[in-house]
Amino acid sequence: MPRTFFVGGNWKCNGTRESIAKICEEFSKGPSTADADVEVVIGCPAIYTDYTREKLRKDWAISVQNCWVGKGGAITGEISAEMVKDAGIEWVILGHSERRHLPQLKESDETVAVKVAYAISLGLKVMACIGELLEEREAGQTQAVNERQLAAIAAKLKEEDWKNVVIAYEPVWAIGTGKVASPDQAQEVHEQVRAWVASNVSAAVAADVRILYGGSVTAANCQELAGKPDVDGFLVGGASLKPEFLAIVDAYKNS
Ligand code: PEP
Repeated sequence: MPRTFFVGGNWKCNGTRESIAKICEEFSKGPSTADADVEVVIGCPAIYTDYTREKLRKDWAISVQNCWVGKGGAITGEISAEMVKDAGIEWVILGHSERRHLPQLKESDETVAVKVAYAISLGLKVMACIGELLEEREAGQTQAVNERQLAAIAAKLKEEDWKNVVIAYEPVWAIGTGKVASPDQAQEVHEQVRAWVASNVSAAVAADVRILYGGSVTAANCQELAGKPDVDGFLVGGASLKPEFLAIVDAYKNS
């Protein structure tokens, strides 16, 4: 089965009603993706999901950027996967490096994996993020770190769950730094990730699962990255708040 190119936006903790209305208006200037070989999902702040849904073009879907590990209840300040589903949102970004590494958050591999499995069990779709720190890359641990993070998730999923997962490989040193991985660096890791999935989940899942690259993707660098055989799309932070996101979506034509 050919892998439909996937472009996720991650607005992180940014935006106001005014800026969201403005960027959604910019996005509506781009050609329809309804019948194109690309799927586009915008990860907006949870408090603005309804507002973003109202303003965002209807051929693009909405995601939240996190949810709780299990059923809601006495967990002040959290958002449960049940609520995400009830709000009509299809997607959730989980395991983003900011949630894994910010000292105030420090989500473990296990926490991320429990969240992924719980969200999937409710019928949500997950952008599951993995990626190494700069010091881990420099120490030659890139593959080991990605495989460790993936293994934690895979241990909690059944084979059929993977149809609702996209993997986002986001080297932490490339996120928000302007220092994008080279197309060869991205391809090398994506190939390793796919091989790991083939050996540890199944060949069928490896063939179908989409592996996104994330980390300082822009209109200027997306074309070459999209041309790599194992790069099935992007997770885009900063540039998803700008009109140039349309050009990144358009990179599917080069995949
Ligand atoms: C991200 O937040 O997932 C990301 C990749 O950010 P940026 O594109 O700004 O590096």
